Amino acid sequence: MTVYNFPYKDASFLISEVLGFDRMCEEAGLEDMNSEMVAAILDEAGRLGSEIIAPLNSIGDQKGASLDEKGVHETPGFAEAYQQFVESGWPSLNASEAYGGQKMPRVLGAAVAEVWQSSNLAFSLCPLLTGGAIEAITVHGSDELKDIYLPNMVSGKWTATMNLTESAAGSDLAAVTSRAVPEGDHYLLFGQKIFITWGDHQMTENIIHLVLARLPDAPTGVKGISLFLVPKFLLDENGQPGERNDVYCVSIEHKLGIHASPTCVMNFGDNGGAVGYLVGEPHNGLAAMFTMMNDARQGTGMQGMSLSERSYQQAREYAKERLQGTHSDGTRFPIIEYPDVRRMLMMMKAATEAMRGLAYIAAAEIDRVHWAKDPKEAKKHAERTGLYTPIVKGWITELAQEITSLGLQIHGGMGYVEETGSAQHCRDVRITTIYEGTTGIQGLDLVGRKILADKGEVLQGLLDEIQATANAMSGIDELAGQASALKNAVTSGREARAWLLENAAQDRNVAGAVSVNFMMMLGYICGGWVMGQSALKAIHLLKGDGNDESFLRAKVVTAQFYVDHLLPRADSYLATVKAGADSIMALDADQF
Ligand SMILES: Cc1cc2nc3c(=O)[nH]c(=O)nc-3n(C[C@H](O)[C@H](O)[C@H](O)COP(=O)(O)OP(=O)(O)OC[C@H]3O[C@@H](n4cnc5c(N)ncnc54)[C@H](O)[C@@H]3O)c2cc1C
Repeated sequence: MTVYNFPYKDASFLISEVLGFDRMCEEAGLEDMNSEMVAAILDEAGRLGSEIIAPLNSIGDQKGASLDEKGVHETPGFAEAYQQFVESGWPSLNASEAYGGQKMPRVLGAAVAEVWQSSNLAFSLCPLLTGGAIEAITVHGSDELKDIYLPNMVSGKWTATMNLTESAAGSDLAAVTSRAVPEGDHYLLFGQKIFITWGDHQMTENIIHLVLARLPDAPTGVKGISLFLVPKFLLDENGQPGERNDVYCVSIEHKLGIHASPTCVMNFGDNGGAVGYLVGEPHNGLAAMFTMMNDARQGTGMQGMSLSERSYQQAREYAKERLQGTHSDGTRFPIIEYPDVRRMLMMMKAATEAMRGLAYIAAAEIDRVHWAKDPKEAKKHAERTGLYTPIVKGWITELAQEITSLGLQIHGGMGYVEETGSAQHCRDVRITTIYEGTTGIQGLDLVGRKILADKGEVLQGLLDEIQATANAMSGIDELAGQASALKNAVTSGREARAWLLENAAQDRNVAGAVSVNFMMMLGYICGGWVMGQSALKAIHLLKGDGNDESFLRAKVVTAQFYVDHLLPRADSYLATVKAGADSIMALDADQF
């Protein structure tokens, strides 16, 4: 069985030093929150993750969820682990205090989420979706719905799901056809949803489904979709689960990875109608769902990073143990001695640290939106969050495919067979570029809504900030080379921005054709920025006494590796952006 340990040093360094967590909390008036507390919380989460949740990862892979006439049965051991997770108070970490939550900063929530996701992605999806539903109800639900449902969801006593997708409505949610018919103080829902994560299980006594459906008078398209809360069990007069509601899982998918996460086909209303309650305004359901988008999409980016970390840890241990060479004195040596294995390990280490840094920076930006005292400041942080989100989701999950694949490669043939568990990470991570909006949808969101819509102004601000980091690095001899590479990357970013603004207006295919490459380019530049900030901090701390010299030196070297081997990709993406749409769109559909 493979061991997992949360990378405390890197996480704490990023939160405390790079993000300046204590100063952030002070400015936000969170007097009782500080880096020491973060360390204690991460330590606690790390223990539960390593000891209880991670050991269930390969068990869940081998014996996934199953369905019989009583419903979906989760992998044996999951219910007990979930119980411990609830008893330790983890579901309530980020939720509002009004419903029993602890309202901890989002960036801390992101670090804690890494523990669950690295330990066991399939398990982590259940509380993750519940968190999203809590947020949707908190922001859009009536006081009555909040009072009735939120306390038990926040405590983790009940879990929740998101029911958006239908067989004809995937990326294009305008095509949703599920119906909701008014009946007294509630609605009756009819329709079928597919691919619903943790749509059913036996771990809790109720499951709260959030469902997109159309009212009878709904306009067509995305503006005619409403959001409903549909409990698995209707509540009795004491607020306890009573009568079974007309919503059932009718099948579960057999799929590439995350076998322990049941992916359910959910039928609503086969026996007269599933009772549901409107959340928010009629016809405004998609907007309600989209308020959680930054969280959910950044959370999916975190999943890519978390599995990259898990895969890295496993590959690192294997590389130290696997003897595959003989010294002249006859002693055998491990594969970590080979430069090419070092290259792969450094790729894994540098990419994962860059991903983690960017994911934390983006999560902290969500905190800044909530903490801003001035609406103008809040708007600025919200716009920056909007820019980061598709990069965190798109770039990290795409890069994670390569990183987990390198993890398998380091294992040689043992990676390809299931025994080592390395293949599971590749299979599990594959979904992250698909759900919560495919990579293509992230690219369109970035280029269309976040860059072209404001003529590249917010992007300009980010590039200026990266340039400022590069300027600060130039003043330090040891970082001068890294600084000039980062400056070049910023110049490439500016060139791509200008090219996009000029060309997207002239050819309607341009934005769609270049968007994913544009997003990948920005991802690599942001990664360089994070590594640059880390190197700056490390050099500063190395001058002081009592700091972890080995860790800090490794940070500077890892940043150098990033500049040498990952940052140059920004330039090749620039070339693909500037190639435009011509050769992409030149063939007729029947020439394929
Ligand atoms: C394991 C798993 C768990 C899931 N969990 C949930 C869940 O809990 N709740 C839920 O509601 N859904 C869930 N989903 C559904 C998931 O969100 C969708 O699969 C995803 O949104 C993509 O939709 P689709 O599969 O219909 O693909 P399609 O939309 O058919 O896309 C196919 C391809 O076309 C591209 N494409 C489509 N439209 C565009 C466009 N406008 N521009 C450019 N390219 C485009 C896509 O990028 C993709 O490459 C889950 C799916 C899986 C596999």
